[in-house]
Amino acid sequence: MLHSQRVKALAACQALLAALPNQVFFPDSHDWHVASAAPQCVFEPKTTPDLSAGIKLIKEHGSLFAVRSGGHMTVPGAQSVDNGVMISMSNFHEKLLNEDNSVASIGPGQLWLGVYSWLAQHGLAVNGGRYPMVGVGGVLLGGGMGYFAGQRGWSVDDLVGWEVVLADGSIINMTTSPEDPHSDLAWALRGGHNHFGIVTRFDMRTFTASSAFGGLVVYGAAAKEPFFAALDAYMAPGGGSDDPKSAINPASTLQFVDGEWVHRYLNVYMYADADENPRALENFTNILTEQVAFGSAALHDSWVDIPNSLAAMASREDRTLFWAITFKSDRRAVDIVTHIFYAGARNELGHVEGLALTISFQPLTMPYLMASKMKGGNLMGLDPDEDSRHFAGILFPTWKLARDDNAVYEFTLKAASEIEEELRKLDLFNPYVYINDAAKGQRPFMMYAGGAHLARLQEIQGRYDPDGFIRDYLQHAFDLGSIVVPVESYHGEL
Ligand SMILES: Cc1cc2nc3c(=O)[nH]c(=O)nc-3n(C[C@H](O)[C@H](O)[C@H](O)COP(=O)(O)OP(=O)(O)OC[C@H]3O[C@@H](n4cnc5c(N)ncnc54)[C@H](O)[C@@H]3O)c2cc1C
Repeated sequence: MLHSQRVKALAACQALLAALPNQVFFPDSHDWHVASAAPQCVFEPKTTPDLSAGIKLIKEHGSLFAVRSGGHMTVPGAQSVDNGVMISMSNFHEKLLNEDNSVASIGPGQLWLGVYSWLAQHGLAVNGGRYPMVGVGGVLLGGGMGYFAGQRGWSVDDLVGWEVVLADGSIINMTTSPEDPHSDLAWALRGGHNHFGIVTRFDMRTFTASSAFGGLVVYGAAAKEPFFAALDAYMAPGGGSDDPKSAINPASTLQFVDGEWVHRYLNVYMYADADENPRALENFTNILTEQVAFGSAALHDSWVDIPNSLAAMASREDRTLFWAITFKSDRRAVDIVTHIFYAGARNELGHVEGLALTISFQPLTMPYLMASKMKGGNLMGLDPDEDSRHFAGILFPTWKLARDDNAVYEFTLKAASEIEEELRKLDLFNPYVYINDAAKGQRPFMMYAGGAHLARLQEIQGRYDPDGFIRDYLQHAFDLGSIVVPVESYHGEL
């Protein structure tokens, strides 16, 4: 099986090389930059027609393949594949404004850093991801949590059009208009990940943005109580989270440094206005400066300074696991998550070299989910009344060596299930799983609107991919729960 997949992949790579020279790279090439998995070749199409021609060849040869934009998803194999073709979208870096500057067309192969800097020259912004080194493609296919969430909702709520290459190589352009013949696909693409086609362009609503207050602040261990008190106050009704201009991304970390475990607390926050001392963030800005280890918040002429200050945090040198877990904003829930994850890791992962454990508390606020609802919502199906004042949390270990991968994964899986059990006892657990922060084995699609959207997603997938080529040959981080047809059975039938 493995051998025959390799043979098919090699044949596909040779066919791609013959048809599209200078767009195919092999492991001995100096342009080879593949960190995970071992594809037979990397196909880097220059244009949408090239990608279309390449997809037809990959299909003809029955090869496995993967699609990569920014390459930041932490699920192993989400964007690369052993014995297959890895398609890199790095040449898709379109940046174009429409006539009245209300819509930006953005290629998936770029990072948010480039998009924000370009739009800032026009006094504009889009509601993309918070971390500047993360890719456009993955964020806009999975949801997108950004600095402007309170005013705009999810990133996908601002999408109004796409260009997509389908499983048979055909190219379609579509919009969110209900009259569009592909409006079903437009719904599925707002959170449905890579199950429907390869996106070569996103059209996203813009808005004006200039000055903002904020930055990254890291606090020492002594700040634990004021930090969580500030978080409680922020999330409470009438607190800072009710102000749509505010956004925070708080986290705690535990790291083994020089023979001892060190706790830190950090927050990336932003207030989208020229306000030097925004009331919405005062609980955080009032934490005593003696408790700040490093970093600071200030009023910036351009809001883009805030994401840019995080560029160093997106290092890919360490091995990383994200495990998504959603729970109520309640101090008891925060304590349960923190205790089980950190105490367990101290006991069980002491041997893991370079271990650092982060818990990210990403707020699902009332303005955020209301803004999404006002735009018609999306397939994630979150309801402002039920799901706001929650954290879309991440259990987020990083470590140095591949030999520890299993130990870290198994520990995190066990910790997450213990956390869920304890949270459920107190009615503090929320089954929602944010796909972009989920780990292998989690089932985000099952959790969207309690699984109510799964059948429609599968039906749409079947309509746009009747042969099941994308379903069965493209690497997915998470499947849609469809019946998996063994890859070998397709030989010669595609
Ligand atoms: C340091 C860090 C910070 C993060 N910060 C945020 C944040 O602020 N907000 C947020 O919402 N998320 C955030 N995330 C999560 C992020 O949204 C996901 O990791 C996302 O998948 C990254 O996109 P990418 O293009 O880099 O990913 P990739 O790994 O390239 O792709 C992810 C998945 O999408 C598919 N895909 C990518 N491009 C295409 C395409 N053009 N067509 C079809 N399928 C495609 C791939 O096949 C893959 O399965 C962060 C992640 C990290 C590691």
